[in-house]
Amino acid sequence: MRPRPASALHRAALVDVLVPVALDQSYSYRVPAELDLKPGDLVRVPLGTREATGVVWADDVAVQPGLHNRLKDVAEKLDLPPLKPELRQFVDWVADYTLSPRGMVLRMALRMGEHLGPERIRIGVRLAGPAPPRMTAARARVLALLADGLVRAKGDAAREAGVSIGVIDGLVDEGTLEPLPLPLPPEPVARPPDPAHQVPDFSAAQQAAADALRESVERGGYGVTLLDGVTGSGKTEVYFEAVAAALRKGKQTLILMPEIALTAQFLDRFAERFGVCSAEWHSDVAPRLRARTWAGVAQREVSVVVGARSALFLPFADLGLIIVDEEHDAVYKQEDGVHYHARDMAVVRAHIGQIPIVLSSATPSVETEVNARRGRYRRLSLPERFGGQHLPAIEAIDLTREGPPRGRFIAPRLAEAVQIVLERKEQALLFLNRRGYAPLTLCRACGFRLACPNCDAWLVDHRFRRQLVCHHCGFAMPPPAACPKCEATGSFVACGPGVERLEEEVATLFPQARVLVLSSDLVATIERMREELKEIEQGNVDLIIGTQLVAKGHHFPKLNLVGIVDGDLGLANGDPRAAERTFQLLHQVAGRAGREEGRGYGYLQTHQPNHPVMKALIACDREAFYASEITAREAAGYPPFGRLASLVISAGDRPSAEGFARRLAASAPRSEAVRVLGPVEAPLAVVRGRHRFRLLMKSPRAFDLSAYLREWLAAAPKPKGDVRLEADIDPQSFL
Ligand code: ADP
Ligand code: ZN
Repeated sequence: MRPRPASALHRAALVDVLVPVALDQSYSYRVPAELDLKPGDLVRVPLGTREATGVVWADDVAVQPGLHNRLKDVAEKLDLPPLKPELRQFVDWVADYTLSPRGMVLRMALRMGEHLGPERIRIGVRLAGPAPPRMTAARARVLALLADGLVRAKGDAAREAGVSIGVIDGLVDEGTLEPLPLPLPPEPVARPPDPAHQVPDFSAAQQAAADALRESVERGGYGVTLLDGVTGSGKTEVYFEAVAAALRKGKQTLILMPEIALTAQFLDRFAERFGVCSAEWHSDVAPRLRARTWAGVAQREVSVVVGARSALFLPFADLGLIIVDEEHDAVYKQEDGVHYHARDMAVVRAHIGQIPIVLSSATPSVETEVNARRGRYRRLSLPERFGGQHLPAIEAIDLTREGPPRGRFIAPRLAEAVQIVLERKEQALLFLNRRGYAPLTLCRACGFRLACPNCDAWLVDHRFRRQLVCHHCGFAMPPPAACPKCEATGSFVACGPGVERLEEEVATLFPQARVLVLSSDLVATIERMREELKEIEQGNVDLIIGTQLVAKGHHFPKLNLVGIVDGDLGLANGDPRAAERTFQLLHQVAGRAGREEGRGYGYLQTHQPNHPVMKALIACDREAFYASEITAREAAGYPPFGRLASLVISAGDRPSAEGFARRLAASAPRSEAVRVLGPVEAPLAVVRGRHRFRLLMKSPRAFDLSAYLREWLAAAPKPKGDVRLEADIDPQSFL
């Protein structure tokens, strides 16, 4: 690197600025004489007819003759810490790997962008002029309150005097009161956590794992650890020791969680361990708090962030540790915009920053499991539940032989088990990963099925909302009075169960039970959801009916029975990861049972008790599952033994989508290493009125599939009109 000249005369005259829009390249801008800009600085620059916040990506840009005159000036340098080289490198890396425009990736790092304006100023008032000509009782109360001459915030004054803000404003207009800006109290976003606040007494296995994690944080440097512990083994408590070590070192920690909105329980535990709450980062954080958190992270004021996948792009000043909780969770894959897998990118970020990363799970992804088996990742095991609690015993209920009566979904043996648990005043959970009342509604008279007008999907009956809803595009309509095809009335029948229908059945089977249905579409707000989870925790609910919302990470002390209503649900869609997903989800759900008092039981209703996934679950034999799945993946050349990428082509009409997909496939560069499969019509052939085709690329693991695709797409025909092309590296969804 060239030494930077100190003299103002030799400052960079031109800089390249990357802006958070869907563009890959940065733009050159002139640097006004009074500005000193370095890579990483946040700036405002003119962009077309507006201004945008961007980041200086390179300085000392060579001036191209003739170009100089047309260049625009950087408008302003923002008073924010510069993006560190690590983060800029990470943005470049993610863009490169996922085939996304760099500007789109940068946008994730500037998520506070639109809220960068100055903090809203609070207005205060004090007595300044003569009493108004017209006095009222309310005005008199305000004057009496402010007679001491002190400044009060407008809202406080109104509240204390028992009047509306309008009364205060009226007095300001009359000149009786003088308005003046109040400085906002500089509330910290998060107070410093205390690593010694409350250290638990660890079991021997926990202590060994905690010590190993602490040492790797103290030592620093890159390294991946799989914290592999059964549900309830205390993984959280153990990795908190790594967080404590980072705190003692003065380093920041990022804890990634799936479904951050549901982690109130986690935040409470964090507070118990460290004495204060951690900062949170997810889409439900209010805009102002986001802006403050963003700045707090950049200025080192925030030392621990618990966040959803987007927290990976926060501008940490001195990140010393990353933890990915429930690392196997499919939610970590972002499926729109930049298609990235947050767990994989977290490993990349740790590598760029040369820091340790911990992946935590009771059911590691096959990728992570293989890495641990091959010694690329270190494995720390917690083989037992804390406090000697047993893992739940799982029994299969073979639906082909002992299923429930027609139109019902709870088999007699499961109903009996629930009854016993309820009599013992313990909790039971019925798990069904399907929102709504019924997944399909058909006309008994003519067989017509109610389908979405925009998608290749059935409408799901949501009886609670009195609507038929498409789960792909959100289309909703009230149930029609008559069949649209044969005009029969009262002929619709609901087919199959959803959680709402299960609730109906439960009400007849267990009329005394206090039932709670937990499903994302039934909870209005995250606050409400947190309250409901608390109700369960405190034992104010007897029977929980839930979708995958309840599968993840919760700790319900009184829950001793889990009934899986339809174990086969996830296996149906022929996706290469279906077996893994099903195993993980069902294992996690069953793991909710028997965590504290008494013994847990799981019942698994299935039509295929001999499927390898079901057999492994019933035998509680995780190794058997990994063995069969790893063998199958290796034989098929699927990840992690090979690489996959997909291209999804969509258009408003079928021929355009198909035609472009064919031309695209024909333009694929020949390569020994890559197989291009397709185009085929996507399993979800139409979504939101767009017809979809897919191409799937397969290559050996050592091959750079991103580079291959980049080269291909650069030379390939470009989509025209309303044809759209989306690239997905390491696809998780094949729909
Ligand atoms: P996991 O994440 O592995 O499922 P958790 O970390 O949620 O397990 O721990 C399960 C329960 O056991 C929690 O309530 C936790 O507070 C408790 N626990 C685990 N280890 C300890 C310990 N050493 N001392 C006290 N409580 C513990
Ligand atoms: Zn639809």
